[in-house]
Amino acid sequence: MNILTFGPNGSGKGTQGAIVKEKYGIDHIESGAIFREHIKGGTELGKKAKAYIDRGDLVPDEITIPMVLETLGNSKAKGWLLDGFPRSLAQAEALDKALKDAGMKLDYVLEIKLDRQIAKDRIMGRRLCANDNNHPNHIAFDAIKPVEKDGKLVCRVCGGELSARADDQDEEAINKRHNIYYDETTGTMAAVNYFKKLQGTSIISVDGSQGIKEVSQLILKELP
Ligand code: AMP
Repeated sequence: MNILTFGPNGSGKGTQGAIVKEKYGIDHIESGAIFREHIKGGTELGKKAKAYIDRGDLVPDEITIPMVLETLGNSKAKGWLLDGFPRSLAQAEALDKALKDAGMKLDYVLEIKLDRQIAKDRIMGRRLCANDNNHPNHIAFDAIKPVEKDGKLVCRVCGGELSARADDQDEEAINKRHNIYYDETTGTMAAVNYFKKLQGTSIISVDGSQGIKEVSQLILKELP
């Protein structure tokens, strides 16, 4: 089962992706997380991408598109859930072509809808686990609240160290990311609409303003 996930930063896309990955045993491929791994590892790609990410700009397509397509091609699981890509109409066209060339079918487009202001308020409270990107932690949501250990907040799943993303604490970077997301001409909403029109793909559109459990129930009831 191959799924494309869309939702503005802060919509709970990563959290829901982790739930779907767990249930179906498919790969959760997150372009932003791949970039962060490269930055952590000090790779050439990471060095090139860092300045764009810190500012909330898109990393150029000549870096991003081959990186994501290579990860997809290397996936050995029985399916994937792609998150954070495509983020523009150009990336949508490149992905559509690559999937067709590889004979890969896209089964679902999952869209998590959320008002821009709510999305913005949510971003600042989320925390990243150093051990696993699929361990959601957020200081404002009881269901995924980090736990306290020795006077410090740690990952609620594994006790790992937590950090806040620099681009999540910078209002200008958040605004830029949302401008890109809500842009229906060439931005991410244009990519959403592109894939919504493809034949043979089922669309799952959910309201992301509810709690984590409620949203995951809405999503899971649409999946086989
Ligand atoms: P995310 O974790 O999805 O919020 O991504 C963090 C940052 O990585 C974004 O703000 C971009 O700078 C970069 N990035 C992630 N995915 C893409 C993409 N598909 N195209 C260009 N840049 C991306």
